[in-house]
Amino acid sequence: MRYPLALQNLIDQFSQLPSVGPKTAERYVFYLLKSSPEKIQLLAQSLSQLKGNIKICSSCLAIAENDPCPICSDKTRNESLLSVVANLQDMISLENTRQYQGKYFVLGGLINTIEDVKPDDLPLQKLADRVNALLKKQGNLEILLALSPTLEGETTALYLSRLLKNPKIKITRLARGLPSGANLEYVDELTLGNALKYRNTI
Ligand SMILES: [Zn+2]
Repeated sequence: MRYPLALQNLIDQFSQLPSVGPKTAERYVFYLLKSSPEKIQLLAQSLSQLKGNIKICSSCLAIAENDPCPICSDKTRNESLLSVVANLQDMISLENTRQYQGKYFVLGGLINTIEDVKPDDLPLQKLADRVNALLKKQGNLEILLALSPTLEGETTALYLSRLLKNPKIKITRLARGLPSGANLEYVDELTLGNALKYRNTI
């Protein structure tokens, strides 16, 4: 027996989301069925506004409500520090540390040979324009390649560090070391090796 069409359609839609299988999709739909009409209305409204109320910041390529985004238009931020991040989620993670006061550039992806994402698929001309504009204004620039230490992140960082090579640019990476709460006994050799290599003075 099949579900009524309205239910099945929604199950099919949810099933297409990343990491959501048909069983999880069913749970979502039955949860919604039990929810109040107001709650469903709010969800429907958020979904319909998703594409309409967002813009891409022409300066950093982040998804935002306005162009330029609040970070690009914030005059108090350090314009001699530019972080290159893979996506908006990583940018928000850095922002949530409340330790970062520089600017951003969102690549929107990483070089990935398995999924056939080549350097040409990344907005490298936009990045070069952004870097040149900041260099012209500041004279010197630190570019932090804030990319995940995965194969794709490493490949992209290596590519960008060659591409952006300039005596006026200092290129840095995020330190790689121990996660908070880690027990040394269980940390893998590569992570511990990196923590040892990038040890700092206290
Ligand atoms: Zn921006």
